[in-house]
Amino acid sequence: MRAVILERQGEPVKPTTLPDPEPGPGQLRLKIRACAVCRTDLHLRDHEIEATKLPVVLGHQIVGITDDGRRVGVPWLGWTDGTCRYCTSNRENLCVNGKFTGRDIDGGFAELTVADERYCLELPDELSDEQAAPLLCGGLIGYRALRFTGDATKIGLYGFGSAAHQICQVAVHQGREVFAFTRAGDERTQEFARSLGATWAGSSTEPPPEQLDAAIIFASAGELVPQALKTLAPGGTVVCAGIHMTDIPSFPYEILWGERSIRSVANLTREDGEEFLAIAPQVPVRTTTTTYPLDRVEQALTDLRAGRFEGAAVVLP
Ligand SMILES: [Zn+2]
Ligand SMILES: [Zn+2]
Repeated sequence: MRAVILERQGEPVKPTTLPDPEPGPGQLRLKIRACAVCRTDLHLRDHEIEATKLPVVLGHQIVGITDDGRRVGVPWLGWTDGTCRYCTSNRENLCVNGKFTGRDIDGGFAELTVADERYCLELPDELSDEQAAPLLCGGLIGYRALRFTGDATKIGLYGFGSAAHQICQVAVHQGREVFAFTRAGDERTQEFARSLGATWAGSSTEPPPEQLDAAIIFASAGELVPQALKTLAPGGTVVCAGIHMTDIPSFPYEILWGERSIRSVANLTREDGEEFLAIAPQVPVRTTTTTYPLDRVEQALTDLRAGRFEGAAVVLP
């Protein structure tokens, strides 16, 4: 099969051919129809987080067709032990032996893959392969982050990429108000956020027009944490939704005081996936996508790093 591999972190990914993967017990063989690009793929490529296996096929937002013709989604959570203290307390996202697609298990920038059937997700029929792929990490981990904002009615979103453009639509559908923060001067993305229902869009260094109840940070810049804290009303929460963030600068206790809190979100449970994929067609979440062929995955990662497209990049093998 044709595939794209990361051989060494910090170097470009490259197209190659690999033996067709053979499904083991409990695994499905999938013909890959689409695989969306996540910032985690870029963090692995750029060596901002450690790879656990090299070479590796990146990509963990896979839409594939089984040998018997069913369409399924393969998310980041690829396998758990089912027995550790986290698995047995409904927190399989924190499994101490968890394996993740496109890091510990070869992922979706390829023509074929194999996946443990128990972790595959049913996909709503309403969505095309290209539309559905970005839901599988950006959407559902974004949704987990949104849940951690509780009943906040005014929510700030920092870093308006694949996850935020989906979660903005869900939050607006739920009757919340969204305040979108982008890099200073990125008027194109601010306009994009307003087109998806954001009440206000501006630069992350700018104060929003009113105090917010919660903020979700999808960007990897640690300096956004104190900036987001400063926008919150007492009792508000900052949710850090990414797998990697640069160091958070020190800040005066005063901006945390008033029962404000900071928390992170890690991975997903299958329940998050099922819940979000049921809600997405009701909103309905419409993903904005830019497509790339398999031999252009490095270009997709370059464009993601440079912020050259709105929404999500999707690789169509
Ligand atoms: Zn991801
Ligand atoms: Zn476990």
